[in-house]
Parts: sequence; structure tokens; C-alpha cells
Amino acid sequence: MATGSVVLSAMRGSNLDMVRRRNLSLVLGRVHELGAVSRARLTKETGLNRSTIAALVNELVLLEHVIETDPDQAHQQVGRPSPVIVPSDRTVAVVVHPEMDSVEIGLVALGGRVLRRVRFDTERVPSPREAVNIAAAVIDGMRGELDAFHTVGIGLVIPGLVRASNGVVAVAPHLGWRDEPVAEMLQDATGYRVAAANDASLGAIAESVRGVGRGVGQLVYLNGGASGIGGGIMSSGSPIGGASGFAGEIGHTLVRNDGDPCHCGSAGCLETEVARAPLLEALDLAPHESERLNDVLLEHLSHASADDPVRAIVNRQRKYLAVALGNVANILNPNLIVFGGFLQSLYAVDPVGLTAAVRARTMSGPDRDVTLAQAGLGASILMVGAAELVFADLIADPARSSGTPRASRTAAL
Ligand SMILES: [Zn+2]
Repeated sequence: MATGSVVLSAMRGSNLDMVRRRNLSLVLGRVHELGAVSRARLTKETGLNRSTIAALVNELVLLEHVIETDPDQAHQQVGRPSPVIVPSDRTVAVVVHPEMDSVEIGLVALGGRVLRRVRFDTERVPSPREAVNIAAAVIDGMRGELDAFHTVGIGLVIPGLVRASNGVVAVAPHLGWRDEPVAEMLQDATGYRVAAANDASLGAIAESVRGVGRGVGQLVYLNGGASGIGGGIMSSGSPIGGASGFAGEIGHTLVRNDGDPCHCGSAGCLETEVARAPLLEALDLAPHESERLNDVLLEHLSHASADDPVRAIVNRQRKYLAVALGNVANILNPNLIVFGGFLQSLYAVDPVGLTAAVRARTMSGPDRDVTLAQAGLGASILMVGAAELVFADLIADPARSSGTPRASRTAAL
């Protein structure tokens, strides 16, 4: 009997601990998402009582993940002011983003604020080892600061396919990387846990959590960069990765039967027919001036004739973009398709026209649902997305996580 009571008591204790941890996760998740939230709102939203919320918040304060601030009296309703909880800037994620001509390292606080970005230019396309060495050296330089923070881990942004089962970069075509365990290499070099994912998948996460896709159920994100078009899919707040984590390669869907050969081995892919380089060239812009593309293009078209050659390129690219997006809408029935990079410019030329062209290719059900929008997060989008990947583990179990580097593990989308 005595033994049974002890077992029962232990089980009850274990269940209570599980409930407490789940509630900690719930509260930290809301604070991270909203940026600032009153105790009263947490009480209302979670259905937990006031003293439970107070205890959970106190625990998160002790863990240094949140700070409790004085209530802003001006925004209080009638009655006792409720303390406001904000994410702590001391809980951070490091982000590493290798590209063809650089390795960028960022620091993002819980709550999604980008604290710092350091860009290290490279003279040639970095090898995996070179990218890891650069990132490790920059992180070493920040070590004093990071040790004072609660550094949760590193989010690794990959312009290529990342295998979901082991975090290995299956292929990053423009970096020339194939079957490279970059996340593991970075983890070994820095001691921090590393989670890797495809860049456009991270863009989709960022726009879904903190951009124009906030609160949107079904979202597709398409990014147009120097090297091609990437895509990411979100469904009810979760990324859709497919069998191996490679889903979302909308840039390699067929839009033109007699199109140009693509590096993927196919031909007539969206990214061979819709590309940034011809637009820049037609407007006499150098690659490093791509941030001016939108303004220069809109200005040019505002007084261009009907047979203007730039207009012809834009119209052709918009036509093929609409073909791909019609397929996307029919297959996925998204609420929202978000454009990043130069695709924003193709959309901005005539948002209504592109929306109509996509809807014209869509069945009568999905066509009523789908809307198009430009990305809302600008240059910080990949930093924010990669940090979300890192913070997801912390939020899942705030009490478990410690501030010190942990054992090897990689995650991927
Ligand atoms: Zn292709």
C-alpha cells in the first residue's frame, strides 16, 4: 500500500510538473509572439487563474526570459493596473547566413528584435569549411557578450535544400555545396546547438509570425533573389516540409513548355523564365543596385510607351509568374501569397492585374480565397525566421533549457 501511494504521488507530481511546463510554454509563447502582454490578458487568454499566471511569470522572470514592467497607466482599463510582461533582450539566438559573396551573422532577441547584423564579405563563394570558420570567428569575437546572454542556439540559413532528418545541406546549387553537414560543423566549431533550414522556408515562417501573414491560416512565400526563386509554405502556423524537407520549390515548377534549360536538370522552370538579372540589365542597374529596382522600374514604366522593351520583359515575366501562382493556388488553396525580393517589384507594377491573372487560372473555390501581398519584414526577414527556428525549442519547454551550449542536435525544415 505504502509503495502504491508513493508511486501514485510520484505520478501526480510528474503530471503536475508536465502541466506547469506546458503552461510555462504557453505563457512564454504569447509573450514572444505579442512582444508585450499584460498579466490580465494572459489570464483571460489562457483561462488560468491570476495566481497561477503570477507564479508562471515569476518563474520566467527568474529564468531571465521575460521582464515584468510597470503597467502603462494610459492604456489600462478601469480597475487595478495589470503588470506588463515583455521578452528579455538577454535571451538571444545567433543567426548565420552564408551566401555567394558573404557570410552574415546576426543576433536576435526573444520577441524577434534584431539586435545586430555583421556582414563578412568574401572574395569568392565560400566553401562549407570557410563559411563555418568565418561564422565561428565572428561568434568568438562576440563571446564575452554571448556568455552574458542566455544564448539559445544558432539558426543557420541555407540558400538550398536542407534534409529534414539530419540537417545536412543536400544541395545549395549556387554555393556549389552538396551533402554537406554544415550544421554539425558549425555546432562543433562553436559549441552552440544549430538548427538549419532553407532560406525561403524561413522567410515563410517570419512573414507568418511577424509579417503580413500574421494570423493567416494558409500562406505561401516566394522570394526572388539573385540566384533564383525560392518558396516556403505555412499551414495553420506550421511549415510544410514534405517527405525530406524539400517542399516549396515553386521556382522549379514548369511554366513554359519550350523554355530555357534550368540548372535543376529540367527546362522552362519558373526561375529560368522569371529572373532578376534581365530586369536589372534592361534598366541599366548593376547587381549591387538591386535595392533600387522597385523605384527605378515603377518610375520607368510611369512614362514608358506600350511597346517599351522593359515593359515587354515585365509583362512576359508577370505572365509566367501568374502561371506558377495559378498552380500554387489550385494545389494549396492558400489565403495569401507573399512576395519577397525582386518579385515584389513585378507585383507592385500592377497588383490588381497580377491578382486577376492568378485568379483567372484558379478554380472558382480557391480563386475567392487567394490574395497577394508584398513581404512586410524587409531586410531582417531571414534573421527573424531563423531565430524563430531556434526559439521554438526554448518555447516548447522553457524550464528545460539552460543558457549553456548543449549536446549535438540539428533540426531542419
Ligand atoms: Zn529548375
